[in-house]
Amino acid sequence: MTAKTVTILGATGSIGTQTLEVLALYPEQFRLGFITTHRNIDRLHSILQQFSPKGIVICDPEACAAFQRTTTYQGTILCGEDALAEVAADGTNDIVVSALVGFAGVRPTLAALEQGINVALANKEVLVSAGELVTTTARRSAASLIPIDSEHSAIAQCLMGERKESIEKIILTASGGPFRNYTLKQLHAVTLEEALRHPNWKMGPKITIDSATLMNKGLEMIEARWLFDLHPAQIEVLIHPQSIVHSLVQFVDGSIKAQLGLPDMRLPILYALSAPQRLPTPFPRTDLAAIHTLTFEPPDENRFPCLRLARQVLETGGTAPTILNAANEVAVQAFINRKIRFTDIPVIIAETLEKITPVGKPSLADIIAADSEARSLAEQIVATLPTKV
Ligand code: NAD
Ligand code: MG
Repeated sequence: MTAKTVTILGATGSIGTQTLEVLALYPEQFRLGFITTHRNIDRLHSILQQFSPKGIVICDPEACAAFQRTTTYQGTILCGEDALAEVAADGTNDIVVSALVGFAGVRPTLAALEQGINVALANKEVLVSAGELVTTTARRSAASLIPIDSEHSAIAQCLMGERKESIEKIILTASGGPFRNYTLKQLHAVTLEEALRHPNWKMGPKITIDSATLMNKGLEMIEARWLFDLHPAQIEVLIHPQSIVHSLVQFVDGSIKAQLGLPDMRLPILYALSAPQRLPTPFPRTDLAAIHTLTFEPPDENRFPCLRLARQVLETGGTAPTILNAANEVAVQAFINRKIRFTDIPVIIAETLEKITPVGKPSLADIIAADSEARSLAEQIVATLPTKV
């Protein structure tokens, strides 16, 4: 394998940091291209002590100016959000790791795919908001869209050597989050601190809250629909609190394949960068005898209505998932800002969905319009709710 140049969108985040850890383990296989951050200058300085990227993007103009005043870094420094698409589409990239959070990743991810550059995708909101457009763009330019999300990486691995028509259904596993056994009454009272304490994974704040509401699994159903070109009825969710079986595929003969491993995102990141090759790792091994018990149970959509909302928009299609995603981003941010209760999140999303009519076969302009309409509506709904004490 000749060394691949890897550009990381969102290099200062949880996935970005773990991607850099993987690159550091395999200097012969991977070279760092560009790295980007919203405004995490401290983390950028520490990355530069270890790595020499080709260039840096800092989206926040003030943070960028401050960085330029203080750094001794000699490479290219670009300021502003537009530079994300510019570095994503750079001709020297072999692969772009899309690890921004939220809708902000749509344009840069499309920019890379339009140039025929392969994308390793962590930023699931890109496929939720613009799945059809993103997958047709990839097909047209023959670029690969490789999943980093552990469930989708598991399914891609289970599908190696299989035919599409052999798939009966896929089963996405979910840990169930920190509130798996909570009653509705208990869910009303959960605090931000409790919601940010995920039992199995250490991740950025947005996906951690999404995991607690189970919206993360809802977004992953939509992500899977586009990555594997499935019918909504072929996508199931199963609660598996141990997070060892990362997902499963059931075939038409009734046989099931699953992919197992410890909950460590470096594994799916490495696989996305090296597939179909597997590189030896020094990571801890899964000791099934020590784990002893693996359990599975169906999800409860009454206590976790985000899952039902996601299934509804998956079936509706068009810009319905874009609207759900935007309303969820606003609601999660409002919860993080302590403006609403945990159980207000699905209420805000449902109300936003009721008030906006989705359009089919959306263009990028339709998607951007649906996203911003849903955001402002969701913000209005947040403002009408009683402020949380
Ligand atoms: P994070 O919050 O830790 O990092 C986000 C990164 O994006 C940071 O570098 C930040 O500076 C940058 N960023 C954030 N908002 C931005 C904006 N508006 N413009 C430009 N840059 C921006 O998030 P994360 O946990 O690394 O997650 C990244 C994506 O990967 C999410 O879509 C998440 O759902 C997905 N994902 C994460 C994990 C995980 O273990 N962390 C697992 C599976 C999927
Ligand atoms: Mg996942």
